[in-house]
Amino acid sequence: MADCLFCKIITREIPASIVYEDDRVLAFNDINPQAPTHVLVVPKRHIASLGELSDGDDQIVGEVVRRAAAIAEERGIAAGGYRTVFNTNRDAGQTVFHIHLHLLGGRSMKWPPG
Ligand code: AMP
Ligand code: ZN
Repeated sequence: MADCLFCKIITREIPASIVYEDDRVLAFNDINPQAPTHVLVVPKRHIASLGELSDGDDQIVGEVVRRAAAIAEERGIAAGGYRTVFNTNRDAGQTVFHIHLHLLGGRSMKWPPG
């Protein structure tokens, strides 16, 4: 999608610190990290928000979630624990309308979140 920041990262029009890539999924470090590990995992196909998902997207959502879990394992933060977040729409603070799973870890997390 022409005006989507994360689509531009996927096509390398905008640089990012990429930590994982395959045919369908890209993961990169958040530019404004909120924890020692703060990675964004995105589908390469543009989907604006969770509200845009359809039946055919079950596989890609599973791949995004499982990739976050695999990165957490690789970084040695899985046993201690980590947080995964999809922000959706205004009240959750979604600012980029291309689905992205935040993987946050390397410090202890508070609950409830802000
Ligand atoms: P959200 O508020 O859930 O939509 O999250 C958007 C995230 O994208 C924020 O955590 C931003 O710090 C992050 N972000 C914005 N621009 C970039 C960029 N160019 N590269 C990496 N992360 C970015
Ligand atoms: Zn996009």
